[in-house]
Amino acid sequence: MSVLPAACRAAECAELQINLKAVANNYQIIKKRYKGRTCGAVVKADAYGLGAQTIVPVLKKQGCRLFFVAQANEAADLFPLLRGGGRIAVLNGVLPGDEEFFIENDVIPVLNDLGQIERWSNLCREYERPAPAFIHLDTGMNRLGLAPREVSELVDRYSSLLYGFEKAGYMTHPVAADEADNPITGEQYELFMKWYRRLPPAPRGFCNSSAIFRNDDYHLEFCRPGLALWGGNPTPESTNPMRSVVKLSAKVLQIREIDAGETVGYGGTWRSERASRIATIAVGYADGWLRSLSNAGKLRIKGHDVPYVGRVSMDAIGVDITDLPGKPLRPGDMVPLIDDKMSVDDVASAAGTIGYEILTSLGHRYRRVYTES
Ligand SMILES: *Cc1c(COP(=O)(O)O)cnc(C)c1O
Repeated sequence: MSVLPAACRAAECAELQINLKAVANNYQIIKKRYKGRTCGAVVKADAYGLGAQTIVPVLKKQGCRLFFVAQANEAADLFPLLRGGGRIAVLNGVLPGDEEFFIENDVIPVLNDLGQIERWSNLCREYERPAPAFIHLDTGMNRLGLAPREVSELVDRYSSLLYGFEKAGYMTHPVAADEADNPITGEQYELFMKWYRRLPPAPRGFCNSSAIFRNDDYHLEFCRPGLALWGGNPTPESTNPMRSVVKLSAKVLQIREIDAGETVGYGGTWRSERASRIATIAVGYADGWLRSLSNAGKLRIKGHDVPYVGRVSMDAIGVDITDLPGKPLRPGDMVPLIDDKMSVDDVASAAGTIGYEILTSLGHRYRRVYTES
């Protein structure tokens, strides 16, 4: 009986460590920086792939009481965690027919068009309950929220439209707050303020992670950080103010010596210029280790760069360890893929993507370990 779990553990090829203390620290770092009233947390997509069931209680313990998800079914998964405090809001809005789910489960919809506002107002009057809803004004994303023409109509008819329910707040979403010098952030903020002045008062929310670090004027009454909580750099042009949360390591499966002129991996896209030593590492695109890291990623082992060679395959990558000094790597050794020296953002930039995609792609084959230090 006792043999089985140990045997299973030995068989794990890769380990994903998620530092819950760092998540808690990051929430406090943001809270300290944020001059507004309510610091929420965006935990959509299973807390960006890190495990909402574990992360939400950690944030709740830090005092977070407002959680944003994208979809209604993600909200349902959080109900048992939020007993005794905490509300969930659904960014994707409330589609026709879904209204009862929201009101009966105390989920806050983010109303994204006039039809959603009208239906919510009617429903609340029917239930004789002024249930809260956010109103999303689109200042430039052209993704979700009331388009400018709808905002004009809302301004003209708010006494009948914004009636019968509690205005939890107005929100808008910045297009490019991660870019320090992009003037669009300020322009979106000004438009949001211009619209707000013509509407009945309610709390306002502008900020994602990056916007919090750009300008205190943007803080307003509530904010919606996501990526920075998981250690992503909200200010990519300068030092990361956040603590790193994720560590990923994988086992060496094989070491081989190849001659000059041999290729590695599918398609033979990398060819050795000299006799080389190649290590095969147990992580691949089936683990969300993106194929665009082929011939582009690198490991950082004890201060040395170890480049990926050849294509990322489903379950393995090759790395060139010819120049790695010190004790030779051996099958079964763990090598770091993400850690303090090789951040999620570093991996993302090698893959030609963003940290968000690296995190939300992290697969389910890893052994997941939550740490507290
Ligand atoms: C995902 C999302 C956020 C969080 O953005 P981060 O950049 O991860 O901080 C905030 N608001 C909305 C509307 C979102 O969709």
